Amino acid sequence: MILKGKEVAKKIQESIAEVTQKEKIALAILAIGENKSADAYIKGVLRTSEKLGVEVKLMRLPMDISTERVINHIEKINNDDSINGLMIQMPLPKSLDQEKVINAIDYRKDIDSMTDKNLGMVLKGKSNGLMPCTPVAVLETLDYYDIDVTGLDVTVIGRSNIVGKPVAALLTNRGATVTICHSRTKKLKEKTKSADLVIVAVGKKDFLSKDMVSEKSVVIDVGINVENGKLYGDADYDALKNYVKDITPVPGGVGSITNTLLIRNTVKAFRLSRR
Ligand code: NAD
Repeated sequence: MILKGKEVAKKIQESIAEVTQKEKIALAILAIGENKSADAYIKGVLRTSEKLGVEVKLMRLPMDISTERVINHIEKINNDDSINGLMIQMPLPKSLDQEKVINAIDYRKDIDSMTDKNLGMVLKGKSNGLMPCTPVAVLETLDYYDIDVTGLDVTVIGRSNIVGKPVAALLTNRGATVTICHSRTKKLKEKTKSADLVIVAVGKKDFLSKDMVSEKSVVIDVGINVENGKLYGDADYDALKNYVKDITPVPGGVGSITNTLLIRNTVKAFRLSRR
């Protein structure tokens, strides 16, 4: 089966529209420097926000800005009661102190769940609701298509702080047995082929080939790769789509849910601010 993300996103949008249309909810996006694929993501967020009646304040800062100046901007947003959530577009310029910038965000406005506090809570399985959008998009896809991960063997390829590690933690908390693989992993093929569920988040087109999976595999493709203006995932989709049990397409899979989850997190942040 093709696990389509648009249907998942639509259902989530319906569940939050009631709040977003009644309350005045706003999020801020801080974009530092130029980045084409980041701009495409921001456009998607703007479109979904408009549809749901959520205001977006987009702030663009120059590439050569100092860490201190960025933190000043973040603190202003932290203290602005008219803004419920803040997302900082990644990747940040290398000249900035990444940890200082990320952890300057008030964790109650951290709608991308990047701060140590929110990510730590995800690890402990006791989040305040602000969980990272891409890993949660994976869970929402599994839930929508009734795929229960309890007791399943899951192989996650990729160990980044925004995808691989949090998705592994969330699935472990749900009772899956998770193996995290990365560029130094030995015998990767054995680990993917024997898994019930493979989550691939590497950033290389056609990385997950047919010989790495089985007819029983469920494949969740998180990768986003642009080649000649076209979007591809990390799985060899054409070879896998009629072979594996289930697979998410790219585009139209996990990536089409994340901006809706960013808005849902903004709604959660709005509720947190009222407690
Ligand atoms: P990253 O570059 O931080 O991490 C990539 C991971 O892949 C690393 O852990 C690395 O060890 C692993 N890797 C690289 N080569 C490998 C190999 N040969 N064998 C095994 N592992 C290997 O990337 P990221 O930020 O986690 O993003 C991963 C992909 O997901 C990218 O394509 C990115 O664009 C995409 N992404 C999608 C969404 C979405 O909403 N769909 C969100 C974030 C990232």
